[in-house]
Amino acid sequence: MQDLLVICDNLIKIYKVDDLEVVALQGLDLEVERGEMIAIVGASGSGKTTLLNLLGGLDAPTAGRVVVAGHDLARLNEEQRTRYRGLIVGHVWQQSGRNLLPDLTIADNVDLPQILKGVRASRYKRRTRELLEIVGLAGMAKKKPEQLSGGEQQRVALAIALANEPSLLLADEPTGELDSTTTQEIIAFMRQLNKKMGVTILIVTHDVAVASVVDRTLAIRDGRTSTETVRRNQPLSATGSDEGASAIIGLPGETHQESIFIDRVGILQLPAEAMELVPLRGRADVRIGRDHVEIRPFGLHEHNQDGEQNDGGSTVIGLSLRSHYETILVDRVGRLQLPREALERISFNGRADVRIASYRIELWPAGVASGIQAGQDRAEAERMINNE
Ligand code: ADP
Ligand code: MG
Repeated sequence: MQDLLVICDNLIKIYKVDDLEVVALQGLDLEVERGEMIAIVGASGSGKTTLLNLLGGLDAPTAGRVVVAGHDLARLNEEQRTRYRGLIVGHVWQQSGRNLLPDLTIADNVDLPQILKGVRASRYKRRTRELLEIVGLAGMAKKKPEQLSGGEQQRVALAIALANEPSLLLADEPTGELDSTTTQEIIAFMRQLNKKMGVTILIVTHDVAVASVVDRTLAIRDGRTSTETVRRNQPLSATGSDEGASAIIGLPGETHQESIFIDRVGILQLPAEAMELVPLRGRADVRIGRDHVEIRPFGLHEHNQDGEQNDGGSTVIGLSLRSHYETILVDRVGRLQLPREALERISFNGRADVRIASYRIELWPAGVASGIQAGQDRAEAERMINNE
């Protein structure tokens, strides 16, 4: 059973600066299971920090719902919000100066959130010792932050963030100021914390290797989640004979699979990689199969690109081949709305796996195309489409 720790539902955040409105999040949906570790990637300005600040209770959403550990954050009053920030979430920032108080010793820094929570001295002192041991800095208790390296300071920051045993750890580019070796170390270490302590972690990072460490990587584009990469245990090469024709976008095919969100009325955003590989130029033909949807450049199917010469002979009486296609509009960044028929025939349940084949983008209900059976299902699906 799913145990959701975080639910973001159509989350919108608009900043008002003088007369200007900046839409930082525009309808972001996200669900995080308890115990997951998720990486969030995306260009600068895409809304990553905004999302973490909303989840951390530092800021309130303009609209939409955000629930963490059963707390509906938009409904908390000031006092409840302060408690939430101190007890339910831990926050680590990029700048060590924001994580640590420079005049306090390392131990005092880790004591502080526990003192604010009202923990007795004997207990918090013991907990601080344990935490410093866990982060590998047992000998540094009496030192000041400036005496530590950048990587060590971020380890202390993790100890501080974890001091009150939060359910959710939010880390906003915690390795942004570290060299790549230290970055790897910190991320691997966070994964250990995630596994050992069971703390759910959301980490914003630019580190490209992070995808191989975390459970899921979420790409945010224009204030929405646009793609999702799920770490898989099953090699994709087991999924069928036509892998050569369809590449899983952007990532090594062996371990990853992209999926996108589809809202209730069928609006979705194609991944940037799909837009690059299959140029749609504003319009696309949608072909609705039995259990998946294909999106092709407008007009291309009339040229019998991939052996559809026989389709004319096998059309259902009274329905021309054209009726299997619908033309839709696709905007510059890949946003489109699936035809209602597609939603009626195929239960995407809000999410689709994306595959790119030659001249087409395929959308499969999440999980369907990824199982060992996928090759067969797929071949059968192709046959069904061609016989319809
Ligand atoms: P990221 O962390 O992905 O770089 P941010 O969440 O910081 O992105 O920013 C998303 C958008 O919101 C940007 O256009 C940014 O300029 C704007 N923004 C962020 N914080 C504020 C703020 N406090 N006031 C006004 N605009 C903001
Ligand atoms: Mg940021």
